[in-house]
Amino acid sequence: MKVLVTGGAGYIGSVGVRELVHEGYEVVVFDNLSQGHRAAVHPEAVFVEGDLRDREFVDRTLAEHSPDAIMHFASKSLVGESMEKPFLYLDENVRCGINLMRSAVEHDVGRFILSSTANLFGEPDSIPIDEEESITPGSPYGESKNILERTLRWLDDLDALRFAALRYFNAAGAASEDLGEDHDPETHLLPIVLEVAAGKRDKIEIYGDDYDTRDGTCVRDYIHVQDLAQAHILSLEALGDGSRVYNLGNGDGYSVREVIDTARRVTGVEIPAEVGPRRPGDPPKLVASSEKIRSELGWEPQYSELDEIIASAWAWHQKHPNGYDELEE
Ligand code: UDP
Repeated sequence: MKVLVTGGAGYIGSVGVRELVHEGYEVVVFDNLSQGHRAAVHPEAVFVEGDLRDREFVDRTLAEHSPDAIMHFASKSLVGESMEKPFLYLDENVRCGINLMRSAVEHDVGRFILSSTANLFGEPDSIPIDEEESITPGSPYGESKNILERTLRWLDDLDALRFAALRYFNAAGAASEDLGEDHDPETHLLPIVLEVAAGKRDKIEIYGDDYDTRDGTCVRDYIHVQDLAQAHILSLEALGDGSRVYNLGNGDGYSVREVIDTARRVTGVEIPAEVGPRRPGDPPKLVASSEKIRSELGWEPQYSELDEIIASAWAWHQKHPNGYDELEE
């Protein structure tokens, strides 16, 4: 079976590609390298440098490679950015996904896996959040994924394709010392905390400590990228039995302060922190119930402890203090 992976040069996509290759799938990576890294593309994958905004090119790529399935990781994915530049999400993110879906339908690619998000749940009624929770996107980013999920539901209703929408909570950790997180600019909590530990930044700014949570800082559910990748493989294999939607997290919430404290313990470095204003679009508390994927597909996270997740990210940071830069020179 051949799988086309958009964003396969990116943080989560590159791990998905590695797992697919391990499982014996043929893989074509489609990435414009705007956020991904050439050095993160698996050597056994075919690499196509291309842009999802270019529908004709997407069409030609699907015609040439005839994949059996698509994993669509490529995306703008920043809550804060989406509050400042809504059309990057409500237009571009949506358009890229729709271009891909349209080509997928036209070329009879029957299976589609969408990277979705916990930001669908801006105001959850109950925690942990299961798949019955009502959708109230917390930001234009969450809304862009909601539109793509709804489009997939229509395509499923119309028998055009089968899909899985995987709502990631907070992807974290490194899949190996050589496959890690490297964004420019970096905006995510854990890599920034580790950059402070490594002496590359002076301090971590905590975005608000007046939320209604146990220590006033936002609570998130951190899930290891390797566990996310496994969920993709299991979902792909299950698509023959019908479309599905899963929330994906560890089921444990950690506050921003708890993440910083754990990183202090794991790295042995003090890590100065300072409280700043809230970041618009951030829901106070997002913790997943992943009971559905556990019971339906037997998914079981291998990295359930925050310490292990942070330790794996720290090993990557220490081995590659400048990220993929030195591998690409
Ligand atoms: N956060 C923070 N300081 C930072 C970056 C993030 O306090 O420099 C907080 C952010 O407000 C959120 C949590 O850390 O509550 C996780 O943010 P991240 O951007 O890593 O992921 P998100 O939850 O937005 O997907």
